Amino acid sequence: MSDKPGLAPPKSPPVRLNRNTVSAGFKKRVNELSGENLDSCYQCGNCSSGCPLAQEMDILPNRVMRLAQLGLKDELIHSATIWICASCFQCTVRCPRGIDIQGVMDTLRQIAMEEGVDHFGPDQIDPEQAATVPQPGLVGVYRKLST
Ligand code: SF4
Ligand code: SF4
Repeated sequence: MSDKPGLAPPKSPPVRLNRNTVSAGFKKRVNELSGENLDSCYQCGNCSSGCPLAQEMDILPNRVMRLAQLGLKDELIHSATIWICASCFQCTVRCPRGIDIQGVMDTLRQIAMEEGVDHFGPDQIDPEQAATVPQPGLVGVYRKLST
């Protein structure tokens, strides 16, 4: 669990835009894969304020949307947020622009896995837990968090 007090949002480093950080074509690819239009996000913050896991995230959902608009692929595919997202759809139903933010999170996980970024592997499971956790649960974790 997070040791962050209260409802303080995670600290966000300044956004750096340059040829090394901005990935050409990333926004277009996210739009294509998710079926959404990232540019329709106007940063109201409703998604983040309703997210039940925001306190555990390193990048809040509305900031995920902003970084994706800017093409900051590496920052997103190496973030903890895309893996912490529980696909609960709360953000999606709260968005006044009708954006499926959960679908964007799915897309970012897909792109991360395409690029070989795993968040979890069998070697990370405690043997005692492996013996007691239901197998369908383990399979579900593998399917979501690894290539
Ligand atoms: S709720 Fe929708 S419009 Fe508001 S910040 Fe989130 S994605 Fe953007
Ligand atoms: S789908 Fe993910 S980002 Fe959206 S509210 Fe649920 S946990 Fe948060």
